[in-house]
Amino acid sequence: MRGIDTATQLCAVIGNPVEHSLSPIMHNAAFEAAGLNYVYLAFRVQDVAACLAGMRACEGFRGMSVTIPHKLAVMDHLDEIDPMAQKVGSVNTIVNENGILIGSTTDGPGVLRAFADAGVNLDGKKVLFVGAGGAVRAVAFAVAELTKAEQITILGRTPSRVTAIAHDLRAKQDASVVAGRLPEDLRDAMATHNIVIQGTPIGMYPDEGDTAVPSAFFRSEQVVFDMVYRPYKTRFIREAEAAGCKTILGVEMLVNQAVLQFERWTGVPAPYHVMREATVARLVKGFASKSTGRGEDTRHGRRV
Ligand code: NAP
Repeated sequence: MRGIDTATQLCAVIGNPVEHSLSPIMHNAAFEAAGLNYVYLAFRVQDVAACLAGMRACEGFRGMSVTIPHKLAVMDHLDEIDPMAQKVGSVNTIVNENGILIGSTTDGPGVLRAFADAGVNLDGKKVLFVGAGGAVRAVAFAVAELTKAEQITILGRTPSRVTAIAHDLRAKQDASVVAGRLPEDLRDAMATHNIVIQGTPIGMYPDEGDTAVPSAFFRSEQVVFDMVYRPYKTRFIREAEAAGCKTILGVEMLVNQAVLQFERWTGVPAPYHVMREATVARLVKGFASKSTGRGEDTRHGRRV
């Protein structure tokens, strides 16, 4: 246990609920490894305005992670919001600069880091999103803004949600954006896209037997990413692997968005491997009896 004193900086995740959050494990491991006098806690919050007023008033309250359901609500109480978060319409990271609260989003940039880390360049690629929720919106904007993807396709079961994301993405003139229906358009889209990003909760614990994409649709040349990280390896990922696809696990989004948060709060490089190992250890331990995902980390080629 690190010493806590009057110079200790506080970071925290707020949400409702927050009991499931892996962020305290990840960030405290990182602060410890980096030798920083920081501590990270989790707060269940109902009154967002009061919470942020408290953060602003406390000089040592340096950083905040924001999770469901507050990613939108915090925006009304911040002093500055970075352009990406404004476009996405949600904030997952707050930094307190001497009482000025600055919001940003690291979900999309975190996923792009995970792709880069896996040696996958999205420039010139056709990127398919399965699902049309908040996380897809955040990642799709990052793909549109920060890569030269040839096409972005969003498939969802609720047309109004799909068209809302597609409409906002098209405002970015050089991204070609296609909107479609789940499950009707999935087969054709899987036949034509190089990159598949699964962004629904399908296959998440305890429904580990479910998958959003039939195994017959995978092609070995595809790169396949699942946002779901419980279980560690979803059925979707296991079937994509069996089809010969390159896969990126949901834990990579979790860790990389946190890496970017850590760097915003502390100004020093994040110890990625420490954060990943702490997270995977907890994921595998917590779900060992039910998860089929215990085993080899395909990206780093080591046992977890
Ligand atoms: P969300 O805003 O609730 O969106 C969920 C999306 O999935 C919606 O488009 C929803 O469709 C769709 N969906 C749900 N069940 C479906 C089904 N049976 N068939 C077809 N579509 C279905 O949630 P979110 O925040 O975007 O999160 C989505 C997933 O990503 C969750 O599993 C979450 O845990 C995961 N996630 C992971 C990370 C990470 O760090 N790895 C970060 C954020 C989120 P409707 O619009 O029709 O309801």
